[in-house]
Amino acid sequence: MPIPEPPDVSYWDASPALRELLSAKLNRADLDWAAPQLAAMGDAAARTVAPLAAIADRESPRLVTHDPRGNRVDRIDYHPSYREMQRLAYGSGMVGMKYDETTLAAHPAAVQLTGFALGYLFAMAEMGLYCPVCMTDGVARILTLHGGRERFGATIDRLASTRLESLWTGAMFLTEKTGGSDVGANETIARRDASGGWSLTGTKWFCSNVDAGAILATARPEGGAAGTKGLRTWLILREQAQGLTIDRIKEKLGVRSMPTGEVMLDSVPAEEVGDFHSIAEMLNLSRLYNSVAAIAVMGRAILEARHYIERRRAFGKPVIEHALARETLLDAEAEQLGALYLTFETVELLGKADRGDERAARERRFLTPVVKAVTGKLAVPVASECMELIGGNAYIEESPLPRLLRDAQVLPIWEGTTNILALDALRAAKKDAGHLVTLERIAKVLPGEAMALEDAFSTIDERQARGWMDNFARALEIALLREAGDDVAAERLQRRPLGLVPGAFV
Ligand SMILES: Cc1cc2nc3c(=O)[nH]c(=O)nc-3n(C[C@H](O)[C@H](O)[C@H](O)COP(=O)(O)OP(=O)(O)OC[C@H]3O[C@@H](n4cnc5c(N)ncnc54)[C@H](O)[C@@H]3O)c2cc1C
Repeated sequence: MPIPEPPDVSYWDASPALRELLSAKLNRADLDWAAPQLAAMGDAAARTVAPLAAIADRESPRLVTHDPRGNRVDRIDYHPSYREMQRLAYGSGMVGMKYDETTLAAHPAAVQLTGFALGYLFAMAEMGLYCPVCMTDGVARILTLHGGRERFGATIDRLASTRLESLWTGAMFLTEKTGGSDVGANETIARRDASGGWSLTGTKWFCSNVDAGAILATARPEGGAAGTKGLRTWLILREQAQGLTIDRIKEKLGVRSMPTGEVMLDSVPAEEVGDFHSIAEMLNLSRLYNSVAAIAVMGRAILEARHYIERRRAFGKPVIEHALARETLLDAEAEQLGALYLTFETVELLGKADRGDERAARERRFLTPVVKAVTGKLAVPVASECMELIGGNAYIEESPLPRLLRDAQVLPIWEGTTNILALDALRAAKKDAGHLVTLERIAKVLPGEAMALEDAFSTIDERQARGWMDNFARALEIALLREAGDDVAAERLQRRPLGLVPGAFV
């Protein structure tokens, strides 16, 4: 066959590193509970979601502003392929399990790891919808942490639903024309109305999953302090959101299955949830989702590339038997593996922190921006390299690679650009020294590197933040791979600068 057929393999079966990693992190009972769910998702993602994702990307959602009688409706019309993917994603419990008391009691140490592992397999097929999944989890988490079941029980139940009929998805409206990174510059105002409630007025410039049922938004109470200090976090329920209009949905490079809107808020009723830190915690969760999306895009691209070059022949033998092609693939695989270990380490820390482990909470606060930055940045060159390994047939829209590459490019931008995250990691290290917890671990495997990272930190200035962060992430990847006994990949990463393009990230 001159042009190989695409792979037909469950993504769970095709993910030996994930299986090993979970076997190491979960106890027997938790693994017995998680594995069948992951096997089912691996199969559904490869055989059902992947073909639907290609359709949903082509048939992007449409904004319907008015009904036939001219009334404003601001509705989003989705293609049935998107609805079916939603049913599979939310129906798997990847969000719902985190809020289900029976599951939490039975598998406290497994819920975050399993939820994110399900998400990884799903996002290998479809990254666009993984963004709304992330925000649905995020809103449910913030409401659980700030007010809990007593105040927000009914909304949390809707967000945690595994049935589309009762599901409300989530969204977060922070970015305005005046600021994405600098959200403290934003201008949306919260005012008390005559009945003592609050309402929001302003414009929001990037609103993904714009028709969500439950939205967290930032706004400043009238006369409040400047900067993020004066911002507060508000809950808008779509069914009560008179005054919310969607001006447009954006034409995007990637993640086209999911609508990102521009929104006008005109005295929209809202309930106060907390100060700016409340939504900052949602951002931290989103950054972890972003890392999972990044390793998923890389994992899928590599799966496609390996399958192809094992079958495609050039100069009388399979491409993979040509030393340089093989080397290129092995480099990409090692990069993805390191990123996978980094990401799931942070997922485990999130679970531990949620169960009251202070040390894990400090380490997680530091590692979250680091891991988001390096995995998001890496997803683009890895997807590109895999496209090139396959060659011309991967540049054509019948291949999933063009979509993977377009989708990947958002990963270094949203949830904080790489520079913003490097500065955030430095802030976290200076504030509560979470990096020292990680350095202890790196020191066991790479004592020289650990010392160099600590020395560099004592004199670091802003301009060196990215180089330091990249070196830190690379050292931790190697330490994690060595701990897991994967010396071959560890040695490969040790020989390489972070990223596939030498020097591109420093
Ligand atoms: C597809 C898509 C969907 C999105 N969905 C949402 C959403 O649902 N909700 C939401 O709130 N937002 C959303 N965003 C917005 C996204 O979070 C912002 O685009 C992002 O945070 C960057 O902000 P900005 O675009 O305003 O860039 P700016 O903040 O204007 O930054 C421009 C450049 O300046 C750099 N920069 C800024 N400050 C510094 C500094 N101190 N040091 C060094 N460099 C600096 C940045 O790194 C960047 O390179 C979405 C964006 C995209 C592309």
